[in-house]
Amino acid sequence: MALEPGDVVEVVKNGVTYRGTVLPRTEEIPDNVLMIKLKNGYNIGIKITPETEIRILEKGEPPKKYSAPIKVEHNPELPTAALVATGGTIASRVDYKTGGVVAEFTAEDFLLSFPEIAELANLKLKQVSNIFSEDMMPDYWVRIAKGVGEMIKNGVDGVVITHGTDTMHYTAAFLSFALQNVPVPVVLVGAQRSSDRPSSDAAINLLNAINVAVNSDLAGTFIVMHETMDDAWTTIHPGTRARKMHTSRRDTFKTVGDKPVGRSLVVTKGGKIVDRKIKIWRHEFEKRGQKGFKIDAKANSNVFLLKSFPGLRKDIFEHILLNHDGVIIEGTGLGHVRQELIPVIAEATESGVFVGITPQPLFGRVHPHVYSTAVKMMEAGAVYLEDMLPETALVKLMWALGHSKDREKVKEIMLTNYAGEITKRSRPDAFW
Ligand code: ASP
Repeated sequence: MALEPGDVVEVVKNGVTYRGTVLPRTEEIPDNVLMIKLKNGYNIGIKITPETEIRILEKGEPPKKYSAPIKVEHNPELPTAALVATGGTIASRVDYKTGGVVAEFTAEDFLLSFPEIAELANLKLKQVSNIFSEDMMPDYWVRIAKGVGEMIKNGVDGVVITHGTDTMHYTAAFLSFALQNVPVPVVLVGAQRSSDRPSSDAAINLLNAINVAVNSDLAGTFIVMHETMDDAWTTIHPGTRARKMHTSRRDTFKTVGDKPVGRSLVVTKGGKIVDRKIKIWRHEFEKRGQKGFKIDAKANSNVFLLKSFPGLRKDIFEHILLNHDGVIIEGTGLGHVRQELIPVIAEATESGVFVGITPQPLFGRVHPHVYSTAVKMMEAGAVYLEDMLPETALVKLMWALGHSKDREKVKEIMLTNYAGEITKRSRPDAFW
């Protein structure tokens, strides 16, 4: 019997038994992966091999659609935005049976829940997945980049990607590298409270993301989220410099080590937009319509991000360095690891592993010439990545190694600034 969403199944793989409800298939999930929701509320993907046993325990009802499909008239006066839904809290509801938050909002549901959107733009909707962003994988980024890139080529005035906030800055970094010379704004947006809660930040964030996507002259990848705890301005962050800095506050995203791009405000009253504004601080991003757009979406995920800390075990360090194509180390201070670990760096780089050093303090840049530790690390082949944020460096290394495994070539890519990930000089006014 064919498996359908809603069926309760028992899956036995490698001696482990999983019980759960089959989730609807989305474009992002490979055909050989079965997604199920476990009783504890977690969604898991199980790779189906010939040895995997699947039994249907109960034929379930397909999950209910909350909303009827809606039709919105095309307004020729308005610009067109692509609204690409990937999941996350912004696309979720409280499941009142379990009390948990579930990601099951479709792109259409956004229009239904926030009708003000129709005043800003015509929308081309695309649902690419319905997952929390902790479940994002580098190959999903590749597919998102290609999907978004095609929509841009087919003609939209801007792109809004709804995404979980946990790993939004990783996806933003990937798109910053993969969508080169993009002619329109690509804006990622999320929410800290699910869309069906009165306290949700989803509406403000979404309306402002669309505002920036279609009404600004920006081009590139950005994150737009609440600027403060109030429902007022939102900040536009550069895609390679944004970071989630608070577990629960609405203004969780901050631009780290540089100035934000600008801000956006959309004021609504009685379900109507009564005012909207955009203020740009960094005019170098105002490149709408730039030429030479290229989709360059490749990722090698055999990369590790390692935090150096007192007591980091040498055998573990060795195992990590020698079993990846590249490793980003969050070095302490100006970019250090314990001296005892330096010969491991030499061994790894000699065998072709790329080892990059980023600043654990997040602000400021790593420096290989101040302390003898760093001098030795550099001599061992470690590459000092200036002021690149550790997560951005991780994503960039996946992207770089997707192009070449040659250490020198990868080094050249890593030290070239593509999208604001390396600044020439650290701005004193960018530290808070
Ligand atoms: N865990 C959620 C996610 O990243 C949180 C959120 O969306 O804010 O998908």
